[in-house]
Amino acid sequence: GLSKRLLTIAEHVPQGSKLADIGSDHALLPVYLAQRGITASAIAGELNAGPYAAALKQVEEAGLRSFIEVRQGDGLEVIASGEVDVITIAGMGGLLIVQILTQGVAKLNQVQRMILQPNVGEEVVRRWLVEHDWFLSEEYIIQEDGKIYEVLVADRSEQAKDLNQSLYQERQIAGKTVNKERLIAMGPYLLTQADPIWIQKWQDELFKLQRIVEQLSRSELEASLQRQQQIQNEMIEIQEVI
Ligand code: SAM
Repeated sequence: GLSKRLLTIAEHVPQGSKLADIGSDHALLPVYLAQRGITASAIAGELNAGPYAAALKQVEEAGLRSFIEVRQGDGLEVIASGEVDVITIAGMGGLLIVQILTQGVAKLNQVQRMILQPNVGEEVVRRWLVEHDWFLSEEYIIQEDGKIYEVLVADRSEQAKDLNQSLYQERQIAGKTVNKERLIAMGPYLLTQADPIWIQKWQDELFKLQRIVEQLSRSELEASLQRQQQIQNEMIEIQEVI
């Protein structure tokens, strides 16, 4: 069956969606959704020849050629404006996801929902969503095969600005002030829920930061000292909320 990670994404694709799954690889997600009659139509976009061929093969073998169109191209260039209402982008870095969204921003006019699953760099994805007035409506954190993944659901909304404003409003958690930057870094919903997997993720992060601090402390450079201080402050902020 589908991985827990892809299943979490699938569960947030509304019935009757016209979907584009960008960076689809084997097209597992659109195949799963089409087989269950969830999508009205789907496009599997792939940049690279190997995964594109794999997607074609998968769709053909599933007998879904009239439901899923496999298209080769970079990011959102495979879709026309107004062609889809839901976009999924999963299994790549947050920077690449943001690059794809930025380059294809004109294609997002009629899109109502985006389900994004960055492997790293969730922070840049949340920041992009805020800056482009997409309301972050849900967040999930899951663990699978020893890896931790976050799934971000973003919705188009007339009230996106106001909704995001209150979502990222500075607040008190366990008696500590948590500012917008920290909420963007750690997830406004995830931070409140404090799921054990999320706590594990940030303990791992603290461990990595500690090693960087140790390396920096061996340098005499002024810049290293400043960076060390910055990271230590960040570590304190993380410790306060986990
Ligand atoms: N989305 C699937 C998933 O989550 O299981 C596959 C993830 S796979 C690790 C990432 C895929 O994105 C690769 O097949 C790669 O070829 C594709 N990719 C990378 N950059 C892309 C881009 N700019 N446009 C479309 N696809 C891209």
